Amino acid sequence: MTVRVGIVGTGMIGRDHARRLTGTVAGAEVTAVADVDAGRARAVAAGLPAARALPRGLDVVADAAVDAVLVTSSGPTHEEFVLAAIEAGKPVFCEKPLAPTADACLRVVRAEVARGRRLVQVGFMRRYDDGYRAMKEVVDSGGLGTPLMVHCVHRNVSVPVAGYTSDMAVTDTGVHEIDAVRWLLGDEIAAVEMRAPRRSGRAPEHLRDPQIILLETREGVHVDVEVYVNCGYGYDIRCEVVGESGTADLAGTAPVTVRAGGHRTAPVPAHWTDRFARAYDAEVREWVDSAARGAAAGPSAWDGYAATAVAAACLEARDGGRRVAVTLAERPALYA
Ligand code: NAP
Repeated sequence: MTVRVGIVGTGMIGRDHARRLTGTVAGAEVTAVADVDAGRARAVAAGLPAARALPRGLDVVADAAVDAVLVTSSGPTHEEFVLAAIEAGKPVFCEKPLAPTADACLRVVRAEVARGRRLVQVGFMRRYDDGYRAMKEVVDSGGLGTPLMVHCVHRNVSVPVAGYTSDMAVTDTGVHEIDAVRWLLGDEIAAVEMRAPRRSGRAPEHLRDPQIILLETREGVHVDVEVYVNCGYGYDIRCEVVGESGTADLAGTAPVTVRAGGHRTAPVPAHWTDRFARAYDAEVREWVDSAARGAAAGPSAWDGYAATAVAAACLEARDGGRRVAVTLAERPALYA
């Protein structure tokens, strides 16, 4: 069966997923797209073999030629389209964050629970990265002993001066580490703090950059996440789990290290599209395979909710200058 996919939001990652669904992932075709910028949607549709540009995102969700929906519009608009897809009984892939507030995420969770089956996959692609997967296998095997600490680094070359805020460094950027740590440890975050080091001269005036997120899990693991989004030199993602008797850290992604002229060098990826290309392919492949069965797998609406709730607590901790306990709603059996 070919899954007919409708895409809402044809910006950077919407176009990337459209290309992936057309040329890389088997078993899918893009049949409809929409964007608030109608010209952008038309241009994307024109470059795809079977897609029409429709006026609104809700038209895409309702379209009879759409079996499953991919939501890649901006974060605050996700909830409306995901709820409409659940209402229509269509599998839906929603880019992170599921929604910008914990309450909005909970509305999605409750709608899915009311529907009685999983339809939502959230775009936490780290879970599909070979390195993170190998690390989780080591942690789950017990080979490191009981996990004690996790050290994470999330550095971007730069972010747009306009539109990217200090809050987004947590809710849009650090949220990847929040989800990855929950998944790696199989543990929920119980409390958070934040620190703001000296502001980098590379950051625009309005942006706190870097920022440090400190997480404590229910089992007592302490996690530090450095988010520095104007580091200038590359897209640098690091993660090290420290257990009682061993450590595991992500290997570099370069296929080769060069030793020459007295130096040992390896390239650092320039962008997240390079660093996580295979992970994006894998997550979309799993989504298409699940959608063909009318179902969903991978990171769930509950994971989207928990990550957003932790991110919101981080902002409260940062702005209040204090440690904040994270209180999650009761986890529905659907997400056991
Ligand atoms: P983007 O380039 O700004 O694209 C978003 C597109 O959606 C824009 O064309 C935007 O139009 C459009 N849009 C906004 N509201 C809409 C609505 N109500 N209906 C239809 N279209 C609408 O942003 P992006 O970088 O692709 O990011 C999109 C989402 O993906 C965000 O949630 C982001 O956090 C996520 N993302 C995830 C990853 C990852 O690693 N998993 C990476 C990048 C992005 P306007 O520009 O006119 O508003």
